[in-house]
Amino acid sequence: MLKRPRMLLVYPSTHKLGWVKRFQLPSLSLKLVAAATPPEWDVVLADELHEDIPFGEEFDVVGITAMTHQAVRAYQVGDRFRSLGIPVILGGMHATVLPDEALLHADAVVIGEVEPVWSQLLADLQAGKLAPRYSSIPTGDTLLIPWSRTDILAGRKYLTTQTLQASRGCPYDCQFCTVTPYFGSSFRYRDPEDILAEMRTFDRKLTVLLDDNILGDPERARPILKGMAGMGLRWGGQANLRFAEDPELVRLLARSGCIGIFVGLESVAGAYANHPKTGSRYSQSDLIKRVRDAGIVLEASMIFGFDDHDESVFETTIRYLEECRPSIPTLHILTPYPGTALFRQFDGEGRLLHKDWQRYDHNQVVFRPKLMSPEVLYQGWIAARREVYRWPSIFSRVMAGKSAYFTNLVYNCLRRGGVYGEDMDSHHTQHLEAPHQGEVDNYTGMA
Ligand code: SF4
Repeated sequence: MLKRPRMLLVYPSTHKLGWVKRFQLPSLSLKLVAAATPPEWDVVLADELHEDIPFGEEFDVVGITAMTHQAVRAYQVGDRFRSLGIPVILGGMHATVLPDEALLHADAVVIGEVEPVWSQLLADLQAGKLAPRYSSIPTGDTLLIPWSRTDILAGRKYLTTQTLQASRGCPYDCQFCTVTPYFGSSFRYRDPEDILAEMRTFDRKLTVLLDDNILGDPERARPILKGMAGMGLRWGGQANLRFAEDPELVRLLARSGCIGIFVGLESVAGAYANHPKTGSRYSQSDLIKRVRDAGIVLEASMIFGFDDHDESVFETTIRYLEECRPSIPTLHILTPYPGTALFRQFDGEGRLLHKDWQRYDHNQVVFRPKLMSPEVLYQGWIAARREVYRWPSIFSRVMAGKSAYFTNLVYNCLRRGGVYGEDMDSHHTQHLEAPHQGEVDNYTGMA
């Protein structure tokens, strides 16, 4: 009998997680790559957050996905497999925006979404005529992707393996966000019946919709939510807060089983305070209250470091969060990811401190802010995170909800543990150091 071809899919990481890996989600990208792989292939997963990569085993191809902060490790893994004579394919956000860099560490690069090109790539590989680049460009308004494969996750414990996407793409094109360049500038939704049929195969309650903006087009989201209403799922997802302008949509969201929603408020001051995705004829405080009152935990993300932020932004943001009381505030440092308008601007202005991609993780300052120093931005972020996770602030937010007190308290305690614990983490001590140019070249192959 002929040997079946064998594929390794790698989710790269430079560190293993301890007990917190139990609260992580698996890579949806790799679950989808596995689903798009023809059935004659055996597919093996190496999630480096959980286990070591099996460099000693035989594979016919290795596929690696990476976001920017994972790119350095992805390149190390790619180089090692190539030195063993095994072809390597790199995909994901980072390889899409910097394919020339990725090709220094891979035999082929997938630019854009993998599902439309994966079968052809594998056929070319088996025929000995692999091309260096396989590109897909998002078109139309319908998203055609397979049901993801969870069998490749066997033997590992995640928060849930029930993750999926109902839509991709976003027209808001925020200057710091990779979604529009990667997934396109229109909302593409899957057929609601296809989504609901996939959900009917789920045997647990907890589900996560990994859309970047599941409620971006409310009319297309509505049939999905209505179909979910009778299923008994408990789910979380991401959206922009303007969905809460429609009280009926908020009620439908709660009926569908939504227990938590992440929204990007981004900024209390300057351009992003009035951006189309955040601007509304209602106050954000009223919209947040409406979601909270529906029993949904609302996680609100704020970013520090925009060009119109000076050092008063920390205090202003803390007071704003005290007033609005979203269930869980999340504070980030602005990060200019490659492929975004922000990266092009800062790169063009000579304001990037370095291109050490491992540090592009929105917990470190990698650029020179306009109205404050990098150190002030970093220390302001540290202090603001500690302030919003003081116990009185937590209790004030928890008690602001009409229900979900326990869930809300647990989420806040977990986040508080992360905030106070992470600040002791050693990587922050090197947050402002630019690496030597030689180091950067080793990581990225960049001139
Ligand atoms: S609204 Fe959200 S998903 Fe859309 S471009 Fe802005 S940040 Fe990205």
